[in-house]
Amino acid sequence: MKPIQMVDTKTQYLKIKQEVDAAVLDVLDSSVFIGGKYVTNFANDLAAYNGSKHVITCANGTDALQIAMMALGLQPGDEVISPSFTYIATVEVIALLRLKPVFVEVDAKTFCMDPEAVKKAITPKTKAIVPVHLYGHAAAMEEIMKIAKEHNLFVIEDNAQGIGCDYTFSNGTKKKTGAIGHIGCTSFYPSKNLGGYGDGGAIFTDDDVLAEKLKMIANHGQKVRYYHELVGCNSRLDAIQAAILGIKLKHLDAYIAARRTAADYYDKAFANHPKISTPYRASYSNHVFHQYTLLLEGVDREGLIKHLSDNKIPSMLYYPVPCHKQKMFAALGGDAYDLKISDWLTERVISLPIHTELDEEQLSFITSKILEFINK
Ligand SMILES: *Cc1c(COP(=O)(O)O)cnc(C)c1O
Repeated sequence: MKPIQMVDTKTQYLKIKQEVDAAVLDVLDSSVFIGGKYVTNFANDLAAYNGSKHVITCANGTDALQIAMMALGLQPGDEVISPSFTYIATVEVIALLRLKPVFVEVDAKTFCMDPEAVKKAITPKTKAIVPVHLYGHAAAMEEIMKIAKEHNLFVIEDNAQGIGCDYTFSNGTKKKTGAIGHIGCTSFYPSKNLGGYGDGGAIFTDDDVLAEKLKMIANHGQKVRYYHELVGCNSRLDAIQAAILGIKLKHLDAYIAARRTAADYYDKAFANHPKISTPYRASYSNHVFHQYTLLLEGVDREGLIKHLSDNKIPSMLYYPVPCHKQKMFAALGGDAYDLKISDWLTERVISLPIHTELDEEQLSFITSKILEFINK
């Protein structure tokens, strides 16, 4: 059996090696390392894939979120509503810009922002909402967009884990996550569903004015070289990453299908187990399984992790501490929050290996070792 990894970027690379190597060599040969046709073509292809009018590429997913918030003209002290049960990047940039993160509870089934909690958290200072499509399951975007419209708020989707996910609205229309809010953000970190071979990120919007501003902010606030109209930053996707990502984008739907096949295998193996809840799939979201995360009830999680590790099966806790309890938010009143579902989830989740290269032998081994421990 092949060694089991949380993600297997190597085997995936070997299948597209010829194409990738040729594109990388072409960049080296052209010596256009910043900007150029690969960056432009990838941005255009990604916009078409996502059904978004504009794509602005940048250096990573955290920058994408930061640039998005900078472009909305938010002022220090303005409140931005975000889930606490997410990766730190979502909320870190809010604090970095001297905005006030307001943490809300997630839905216990989807692990994504609870729209009812958002409603309750709105104050006259609220300016934006940041839903996160956690693990690759869409947040309840239709309700969130409705709330945002009623209160005149911006919506920035953190789509770092959700790229490729289809959201179905109640009238039957479909949109990709990241193309629903005013701005969408994503990451090309190597382990993400569309991962580069280094860092990268992108910002999506349908708004022409916002697109112009986002592009300027990512490039030192300039439209014309050396004429700086806005305070911005320096955040670029380089040509080598763009060349690689352009190739991988063509495989993204097949990659997602492979993740779903692995997820289906897990679902079946753990179906109806009294101590294991498999990932919920809401009717409006077709899960892209960036992570495959179980909820355990009455299981010694540390013992299970050790049992798996003894059998050379990696597992991860995404995330062991909710954001409001991170030390970095202590000074911002993080301790004052009482988010029981987020706390409860951090104590019960476990994420299993999920990627495009898992085979049945590996899946059978992983599931049998988990059941062996839990049923003993
Ligand atoms: C990965 C990730 C980010 C940040 O992306 P980087 O490219 O690592 O900066 C932001 N939010 C979520 C939910 C993520 O999973």
